Amino acid sequence: MLRNEEIDQLTGLPNLYAFRKNAQKLMDDRNKKEREFVIIYFDVQNFKNYNARYGFEAGDRFLQNMAKHIEKIFPELMVSRFSDDHFVALAYYNSIEARIDDLGRRIHSYNPDAGIELRAGIYEIDSEDTDISIACDRARIACNSIKKNYDHIFRYYDNELGTQLDLAHYIIHNISEAVLKGYIQVYYQPVVRVITGRVCGFEALARWVDPVHGFLMPGVFIPILEDAHLIYKLDAYVVRQVCEDIRDFMDQGLKPHPVSINLSRTDFHQRDMYHVVNDAVHQCNIPKSLIHIEVTESALDDSQDVLRGTIDKFRRGGYQVWMDDFGSGYSSLNLLKDYEFDVLKFDMKFLQNFGSNPRETAIWENVINMAEEIGIQTLAEGVETLEAWDFLKRVGCEKAQGYFFGRPMTKLECIDYLDEDRNKYKGTPAQRAEEADDEALGLGRSVIELKKDAPEEEEEEDRTGFEDDELFMSESPVYMTLAARGFVSLLEYNSYSQFQKHSFFIVANLSKDKLLRVHLSSKRKILDKSYHKAESYQAMIDEIVTKSVIADEQSIANDFFSKDRLILAYHSGITFDDFEFHRIVDIKMAPRWTHTIYQIMEDKGDIIAYFLSFDIDEYKRSKDLVRQMAERDSLTGLYNRHTAVPLIRNRLYRHQNGKSALIMADIDDFKVINDKYGSFAGDEVLRRISARLDDIFGRDGIVCHIDQDEFLIFVENIEIGNLKKRVSELCDNTFEVAYHRDRIQFTVSAGYVIHPDQGRGYHDLYRKADTALCKAKTEGKGMGLMYEEQ
Ligand code: C2E
Ligand code: MG
Ligand code: MG
Repeated sequence: MLRNEEIDQLTGLPNLYAFRKNAQKLMDDRNKKEREFVIIYFDVQNFKNYNARYGFEAGDRFLQNMAKHIEKIFPELMVSRFSDDHFVALAYYNSIEARIDDLGRRIHSYNPDAGIELRAGIYEIDSEDTDISIACDRARIACNSIKKNYDHIFRYYDNELGTQLDLAHYIIHNISEAVLKGYIQVYYQPVVRVITGRVCGFEALARWVDPVHGFLMPGVFIPILEDAHLIYKLDAYVVRQVCEDIRDFMDQGLKPHPVSINLSRTDFHQRDMYHVVNDAVHQCNIPKSLIHIEVTESALDDSQDVLRGTIDKFRRGGYQVWMDDFGSGYSSLNLLKDYEFDVLKFDMKFLQNFGSNPRETAIWENVINMAEEIGIQTLAEGVETLEAWDFLKRVGCEKAQGYFFGRPMTKLECIDYLDEDRNKYKGTPAQRAEEADDEALGLGRSVIELKKDAPEEEEEEDRTGFEDDELFMSESPVYMTLAARGFVSLLEYNSYSQFQKHSFFIVANLSKDKLLRVHLSSKRKILDKSYHKAESYQAMIDEIVTKSVIADEQSIANDFFSKDRLILAYHSGITFDDFEFHRIVDIKMAPRWTHTIYQIMEDKGDIIAYFLSFDIDEYKRSKDLVRQMAERDSLTGLYNRHTAVPLIRNRLYRHQNGKSALIMADIDDFKVINDKYGSFAGDEVLRRISARLDDIFGRDGIVCHIDQDEFLIFVENIEIGNLKKRVSELCDNTFEVAYHRDRIQFTVSAGYVIHPDQGRGYHDLYRKADTALCKAKTEGKGMGLMYEEQ
């Protein structure tokens, strides 16, 4: 009989301690039974993501379900939950593989969309074995060895793994010596600017060159050191080495490039990494702008504040902090809200079939745009081909890293590499632009800056540098062309000349109301006449606005372009401005988003305005796609509460005439469905009914998944009879969802309130719709009731 503290509260299975005690006893007595024993260690791939995606409650239910299946399939000796998603079974050596396969299938089919897979490690206990803990460790090691392996769901512990285990022991016991004796070496991989392909920095990557085990890659020693919480020893050493290498570079009169250093999550708990870095930077006397900190995305799901605190400290202290492996987890976009970064690094492997899949292209363009909008640069790693580089140019990514540009190399190899890079681009426009860039970043002058230890003055110099460079940039045709090309490619034009063809450029003398130059896009079929120089600016604008701006926006467009307003604005100090509107290109087609920007200058007492208008419809569309992704509930694809409520409030606020309705709907006995068929079946029911709600109300309404089985719907401009028909379509039917072998039947109840007849204001309407829903529920379910005053 197990005591309470020996039971895992979530699953009711014996916990680790109970298992060790009782399984040890079973093992000690085993000779009498003359049967062979095995230990099986189970782990679930992607369980962390499952929690992030479906919530902890769903995660708990998953684990409970898993516990039940393991118990059923391995009933003979003992089953335990060790921690998280780690289970262990002590079993007879009997059809083990078939039984694991069976379990694997059941786990997968629990929610086939979740990407959840079982992994199992098997250790065959032989007559020599006496310690259950060692047996468990070995099963765990076998299991861990196939974590990222997609071919096998189980593996036996064997001699090869034994060797790996020995290596792990070796690494843990020799890290201090490896650091002292220089077995750890820092390799540098170039980072380039995408537009030019030229080096703009390096990433420091550790290698362990061991006298016994030879050349070891980080994939071998980093996870072991991280697990053992010893990675800080390595990282502190890498930090120091990088700073010394930069110092050495500068002492040789070479131009140093910034280097990014990888820090692991446990570093932040083990040491004050800010001090480690800052001390090394000071002692080597190098500018802070030459050291960047990389933190991997997976480190950031750490709930503790230590990490955030340190990241802030680094940024306040003048270091750039980069997010590594962005996009590898489910929470990526959320992390951008919670932490501040200077650069997002994403791995090209997250971009399957880049370039050929337009959706993916749109998503990445938007991630890049969004990053830029909030002031974060983007870097793609793992660039191996010319096609990948081209793709990055197209989507507007700023920096890149990968074998295509250069592999990780030693410091000496870096010098040759940089030499080659310099020769390749000598005297080219790219070189000049790049030099201007570097100057702007303060890199060219870092040797001088070093000597002074007064940060304020340092900043002062930086700022002067910036102004010079800005002047250079504004006068440099090369810079302007690059900027223009970058800009038009972000807007999804195929080339700069395409952009020119499709944009309108107008120069007008506002004081004399005369056109000076008119380039109207070749697509302007909408105007009857073509305009010539010396005709009236205002007359042309009036015609353009009437004929090509949608009715709703005409008055604001008229105002924006009005000659008198422009002159007035100019006299109050506004020399440039921009404006977005819907332009009719072809009466048969949907209007397109257009952006107009102008600049006003004075010439010999006259006020001259330069206008540029261009189409941004594609751009707006892909931006909307990303916005939608964030606004939607991941389970049902409907709006979530956070986005729907402000939308509804806004519609109520803007209400002019007509009636609208707020409807609350709820699945009857949803809890019973969940309990009887499992939460995955419940999820399927939610998905199907959401699609139905979207069919019924989505066309002219806002359909939102509030919580669990509750939905909120807002429809405008309704006709009561029609509304009742639609509610009855929802509530007077019984729905059926086929889930595996089950046929789940259910009904929906709803309560609704009419605005403005029965209430105003969102709160009031919500409360009344809720009251009506409660009434529907108590009066018999499967019913849709309109609110009635008591
Ligand atoms: P990471 O920071 O994401 O580094 C990029 C990894 O991708 C490096 O692997 C690099 O060699 C590899 N790589 C670069 N370009 C390409 C390419 O075009 N194709 C492919 N297939 N791979 C490419 P590496 O050096 O094996 O490092 C692996 C990971 O180990 C790093 O991933 C980083 O997370 C960690 N790491 C490396 N050095 C250190 C260190 O000093 N401290 C810490 N804490 N972690 C480190
Ligand atoms: Mg990295
Ligand atoms: Mg990375």
